[in-house]
Amino acid sequence: MEFKSVKEILTAIKNKHISVVELTTSYLNKIMQHDDELNCFITMTEEFALNKAKEIDKEIAKKKFRELAGLPIAQKDIFCTKGVKTSCGSKMLDNFISPYDATVIEKLNDAGTIMLGKTNMDEFAMGSSNETSFYGPVKNPWDTEYVPGGSSGGSASAVAARISPCSTGTDTGGSIRQPASLCGICGLKPTYGRVSRFGMIAFASSLDQAGLFTTDALDAAILLKEISGHDEKDSTSSSVEVPDYHAYCLDDVKPNYTIGIPEEFTKDLNEDVKKVFYDSVKTLEKMGCKIKTVNLKYTGLGVSAYQVVAPAECSSNLSRFDGVRFGHRSGHASNLEDLYRESRSEGFGKEVKRRILVGTYALSAGYYDAYYLKAQKVRNLIANDFRNAFNKVDLIIGPTTPDKAFKIGEKMNDPIAMYLSDVYTVSTNLAGLPAMSIPMGFKDNMPLGLQIIGKHFDEKNILKLSYLYQKETEWHKKEPGK
Ligand code: GLN
Repeated sequence: MEFKSVKEILTAIKNKHISVVELTTSYLNKIMQHDDELNCFITMTEEFALNKAKEIDKEIAKKKFRELAGLPIAQKDIFCTKGVKTSCGSKMLDNFISPYDATVIEKLNDAGTIMLGKTNMDEFAMGSSNETSFYGPVKNPWDTEYVPGGSSGGSASAVAARISPCSTGTDTGGSIRQPASLCGICGLKPTYGRVSRFGMIAFASSLDQAGLFTTDALDAAILLKEISGHDEKDSTSSSVEVPDYHAYCLDDVKPNYTIGIPEEFTKDLNEDVKKVFYDSVKTLEKMGCKIKTVNLKYTGLGVSAYQVVAPAECSSNLSRFDGVRFGHRSGHASNLEDLYRESRSEGFGKEVKRRILVGTYALSAGYYDAYYLKAQKVRNLIANDFRNAFNKVDLIIGPTTPDKAFKIGEKMNDPIAMYLSDVYTVSTNLAGLPAMSIPMGFKDNMPLGLQIIGKHFDEKNILKLSYLYQKETEWHKKEPGK
């Protein structure tokens, strides 16, 4: 049986058209078949999945239905999973078995989902191509010579290849939206604080946020409700009420959205991406949306500010990997200082070391004001830009990425070119805003994404616009190789 969406799967299970064990087995088989080529998974959790599937089947036989009963899901390997290796894509944590579950994992487990495995990712979520992973690059299912984007490349590629119906990701500067765009699926980064960060291995704590990959916007609406909400284990998680996103998308009220297009997100676009983007704008106009130009004049400084703030926070967060408490410990150290140095030298890859060096430098006495404080000021200006724009419009759109996916190896020796693939995504992290990428067309047979940015905690209107757009278009239904 082929299922096109999370919603179809949940309905089929509820109506007993398929048992959870059968469904789980069919996805595990798909992964076995395709993952040698795609490299989406670091760890498979077959035994865990089949045991859970049996448990859910028993519950269903007794007419007990959890919200997401029997839904297979792939989890980014940045989320701690009890009793299962949690590597964060790094040699440093290659031997780490988490003693507890991240809140996102706990919530999804409780809702009845079945974890198929842990997905490949850039090391410690630092990257835009999934090439910095200790476990090798992930391939884009549309063309395996191309990157899937990063850092949540395994999660995005798995959903695009239909070897998992949905997956989790994290987004610090674009790591959900950029790979969603390059793989032709939906990727939702909620408002900072909407979803608990407890048990999610920290990269840059003031920017990190967990989110989702699906093929359909309604599926993201269904899943977001389950992972959102205040968590006493994360003091930055918000207690703003969690709406029923799915019901909101489907209700009869059809808002006439006013949508802003920032000049800064369109002026440097190449002709092909521009055409695809403006075709999607025409669709939105046909749907009754009003389009306005807005200015986000400081977003041009987004990547520069991000590349100071994120490394600064990472240099502090990653200091816990010292070879003493957990993770990789060097075998050839003769004293404590050597142990730190050797364990970190051996355990971290090149990009992670680069970020730690940049961050330590930016935070050091004498440079703090010049770099870190300056970057925080720019961050504030960017947030103000958005605040002003949202006085005039309900939502803001633009292309998610400046171009289609690039080839594996193309940008690995040019970190600046790599960082610039996040040019349209980082600003929303700096401002803490929610945003989603949905498929909007193709360039040379490779997918492109439309980014929809909302006000703080206004995921519901991002999802509703995405849902309405997907009623008018077929882009999200396209599958690689078909
Ligand atoms: N590509 C960005 C970086 O390398 C964003 C990563 C992310 O969102 N985790 O920092």
